[in-house]
Amino acid sequence: MVSMRAVNKHFGALHVLRDIDLDVAPREVVVVVGPSGSGKSTLCRTINRLEPIDSGEIRVDGERLPVEGPGLANLRAEVGMVFQSFNLFADRTILDNLTLAPTKVRKVKRAAAEAEALSLLDRVGIADKAGHFPAQLSGGQQQRAAIARALAMHPKVMLFDEPTSALDPEMINEVLDVMVDLAREGMTMIVVTHEMGFARRAADRVVFMDQGRIVEQNTPAAFFDAPQTDRARSFLASVL
Ligand code: ATP
Ligand code: MG
Repeated sequence: MVSMRAVNKHFGALHVLRDIDLDVAPREVVVVVGPSGSGKSTLCRTINRLEPIDSGEIRVDGERLPVEGPGLANLRAEVGMVFQSFNLFADRTILDNLTLAPTKVRKVKRAAAEAEALSLLDRVGIADKAGHFPAQLSGGQQQRAAIARALAMHPKVMLFDEPTSALDPEMINEVLDVMVDLAREGMTMIVVTHEMGFARRAADRVVFMDQGRIVEQNTPAAFFDAPQTDRARSFLASVL
């Protein structure tokens, strides 16, 4: 579903992604972990071209990533992204947040978009918040709304960049539970997270990055119980 080949990316003199090769199969859930600054967010951002790459190739569902133009908008519509900060449109209701892109980009009729939005809000447990504005929701509710908004575009893959790290502890699980459900339903997912419990519960594979490289990748059980490299061992010692 996602394939990265020999991807390199610099920020000025800083080589942030080094020869990244990564394949994510349909329905696969890949959790990306690694120290701060190792390139996890940049990796996510290159997949929907929020960041251009210097060399290499990225394909989503077999299509080579376009650099610009209408192809880029279509590609972005197929890659859902949920960030640490909730990024909802503050001046629109939750319902409008969910219907905006489907009606504008996908040309879905308003009534159909609203019906689907309500069903998605129900799925993430906040159907009663449809008429509220983002500021009237808790952080966990806002993040669930952001997930529902991404799902409203029927993405082929969902990217999550530390979706729970800005949340109060009691709200983390309500968001992780939605993500676990999504994984069980067969969504293809790339998830950057420090929630090792989520990785154990939901990941098919853990990818460990350090200094812009994929240093190690394995099943969660193998990665957590028997890391192969010193770098992974010391990283795990610092987070577990
Ligand atoms: P964290 O766990 O702290 O979120 P990360 O693994 O997501 O870290 P990135 O955000 O991908 O790391 O950053 C990788 C490196 O690139 C860091 O050294 C960072 O300072 C640098 N970097 C990120 N974005 C930019 C930018 N827009 N301009 C210049 N340097 C950047
Ligand atoms: Mg990051």
